[in-house]
Amino acid sequence: MRKPFIVANWKMHKTVQESADFVKAIKDHLPDPEKVEVGIAGQAFALYSMHEAAAKSGLRIIAQNAAPQLSGPFTGEISMRGLSQAGVSHVMLGHIERRRLFNETNEAVHQKVETAIMTGLTPIICTDETMVQREMNGEIHYVLKQLQSVLHGVSLDQIRDIIISYEPSWAVGVGQRANTALAEEGCRQIRRMIADIYTYEIADKIRILYGGSVNPKNIQEIMAKPDIDGVLIGRASLDVDNFLAMVNYQQ
Ligand code: PEP
Repeated sequence: MRKPFIVANWKMHKTVQESADFVKAIKDHLPDPEKVEVGIAGQAFALYSMHEAAAKSGLRIIAQNAAPQLSGPFTGEISMRGLSQAGVSHVMLGHIERRRLFNETNEAVHQKVETAIMTGLTPIICTDETMVQREMNGEIHYVLKQLQSVLHGVSLDQIRDIIISYEPSWAVGVGQRANTALAEEGCRQIRRMIADIYTYEIADKIRILYGGSVNPKNIQEIMAKPDIDGVLIGRASLDVDNFLAMVNYQQ
């Protein structure tokens, strides 16, 4: 059984105080961590305060990005080793906004995946896809090629803990989600590719999330799909009540 994982991506929203207050407001209302895992990707400067506020709640504290290098003269970058000491357990890599706005390449994401593994952070690898790419023939070749390149050299042992997020860019941040069948099909094709590269056993265990305009009204329908193991939520995760409604979608 793959444990559902509900992840908030706050992007460049919320101050330190607002982030910690949000965590304090939700921490006693989270689902049983044995049944559903919940995480929040906050802004880097707020992560340690969120970690402290989350004490013993099981809430995962997630970074939105980090440098591929371990340390050194890289002014303005954020080190994964530092993040892991600040209570961060996961790092999002290759989010569509990083790729589109900051020219992040597959090679850069690949290097970050290696560094995350080395420093003990769990990578959440995000993919990117335009409507044109998806409509070519219903297949998600573009996403699969992206993943092949990012996962190059990742071993059978290392892939087990990696999380992949299928995020069609035409559904991210626009309030118009992919229809559930398309979202499921995208995740299914990614799982099939993992089985081809690795093994069926790994493909059966690895968690694949869907991201793109998830909200309290559509989360149940999305989470009911067999190949969707969780969701990455942007806008709808910024409000305490909305977020609690989504993480408790099973109730
Ligand atoms: C995201 O930023 O990863 C995302 C899925 O955003 P939204 O839910 O707003 O589409």
